[in-house]
Amino acid sequence: MAGPEDMTIRDHLNRKMRPFFIVMGVCFVLFALSGPLAASMRVLPLLPLIPFLGFAGCFLYLYFRIRCPNCNNPISQLPMMAGGGFFRFSRKLKCCPFCGIDFDTELKDLPGTAQ
Ligand SMILES: [Zn+2]
Repeated sequence: MAGPEDMTIRDHLNRKMRPFFIVMGVCFVLFALSGPLAASMRVLPLLPLIPFLGFAGCFLYLYFRIRCPNCNNPISQLPMMAGGGFFRFSRKLKCCPFCGIDFDTELKDLPGTAQ
């Protein structure tokens, strides 16, 4: 197993984001299913609210917590905007739009960290 010091920025961010993207996906499906279910069964009219809050919570967490390890700007929306890299930092995403650091830079080689 590679230690955290052997990870690139891309690997590091993908690893942090992955569980939240999975939860967001599950919440999205549950939300889509719970709407008709709540309407047809006339029970738990607030049922769709639960996955919606889960989805929103994950989104906010990602927005505020996923930051460039070099310049500390929020970059979680990048993979969602870039084609082909939905829900992860694909190889198409080359660098941070704020500080320009290459996402394939290893964490231990960040200019901003102790040298
Ligand atoms: Zn940056």
